[in-house]
Amino acid sequence: MRISALFAAAAVLVLAAPAVAQDLAAGAAQARDRALADPTAWAIAESLTTEVGPRMTGSPAMELGRDWAVAKFRELGFTNVRVESFTTPAWFRGPESAEVVGPVPQKLHILGLGNSASTPKGGLTAEIALFTSWQAFLDQPEGSLKGKIAVVTQRMPKNQDGSGYGFVNAQRTLGPREAAKRGAVGYLVRSLSTDDTRLPHTGNAQAAGIPAAALSTPDAELLERLVARGKPVRVKLDMQSTSNPKAKAYNIVGEIRGTERPDEVIVIGGHLDSWDPGTGAVDDAAGIAITTAAAKLVGAMGAPKRTLRVVMWGSEEQGGSSGAYLAANRAEVPKMVVAGESDSGAGRVFAVALPAGSRAHPAMKAFEAALVPLNVVVSREPPRFGGADIAGITSAGAPFVDFSQDMSRYFDLHHAADDTLDKIDPAELSQNVAVWASFLYTVANSDIDFRAFPKEAK
Ligand code: ZN
Ligand code: ZN
Repeated sequence: MRISALFAAAAVLVLAAPAVAQDLAAGAAQARDRALADPTAWAIAESLTTEVGPRMTGSPAMELGRDWAVAKFRELGFTNVRVESFTTPAWFRGPESAEVVGPVPQKLHILGLGNSASTPKGGLTAEIALFTSWQAFLDQPEGSLKGKIAVVTQRMPKNQDGSGYGFVNAQRTLGPREAAKRGAVGYLVRSLSTDDTRLPHTGNAQAAGIPAAALSTPDAELLERLVARGKPVRVKLDMQSTSNPKAKAYNIVGEIRGTERPDEVIVIGGHLDSWDPGTGAVDDAAGIAITTAAAKLVGAMGAPKRTLRVVMWGSEEQGGSSGAYLAANRAEVPKMVVAGESDSGAGRVFAVALPAGSRAHPAMKAFEAALVPLNVVVSREPPRFGGADIAGITSAGAPFVDFSQDMSRYFDLHHAADDTLDKIDPAELSQNVAVWASFLYTVANSDIDFRAFPKEAK
């Protein structure tokens, strides 16, 4: 009698746990399959790039972007739609041109870097000092480039995970400052690009008080060949820009409120701002589209237990949204279940990194099973970085995930005029939504606590 009662109790326990796990697995698979057939993400990316276009922090286009975001959240059925305003420094491009004036006149294709200074009216002309490696440039003593335009032409490696960008990033972000330290009057850097078109790729740099621009990759190679001929090469730069140290910026938020534990919040999103030469399609209309569509889809499957929150961060490129988001939501960080940002383009996901130790939890087992047909694996390592806009809340303790996308083509387009909607593959975009939707389903409908796992567990 006693023994059979124990058996009965044990049987109930054994049955109860798998039933929940099975529900999660079935829900995750259903979220995945619905996502693969759902055109919502494509429609969002199409709408943002067409109706708003490029949207620099502090620009009139960003005001339009803010209004677009509020309207889009409402149209898709999100609640608690709100705008969190902040101020941040913003830089605005004016007319720009560059040319070789000697030994032979040649036009150069450039784009000013964020925070670049203007040249004097009428431009500045100087001899260039060219370095084919970042280290060779750094090896120059202070004052040694006095009166010259420093040029760094180190190439960016092209690879699947986009890590080549990290390798060359300093030559754009820190290059102008290092050039100014050495006495240079201007700075040109080979675009952080993996393509061979004559379109330069812009991006932010630290303010250094000198004009600074990115050269298209063919123009960087042209300068290398001219310098190799041994005669001094003189370049004229004519660049104008303005800036606003306290530009208005906005993080726009929409939610699908949880039914059982609404104060437990899953924070995901992408960044709404973009650079100006393209229409900000892969960077980062794609991330906005993927995360918004995934949250909407999971909400449509039945009220989730926890709250799904999508944030369209308003100033990633020129900075500010991460700190502003933390400042406005700091008290809530302990209740943030997990955070994630999609800001690696629209290429397919090939691996997901989950908070340390969480992989064996039934919710993450259900997620992992849903990933198999998508050709996505769960990484053995926890994520090291989840995204620039969630860096504030993750540094304050919010657990985070990182989904690795195929970035083979991303840096052909990134921050260049070619970052346009036609470069997004709808099937690859849907595969991203499927990964996010499966993840959101399992987390929003389970009690998984990503803070509860020992850090060293795998
Ligand atoms: Zn981005
Ligand atoms: Zn970017």
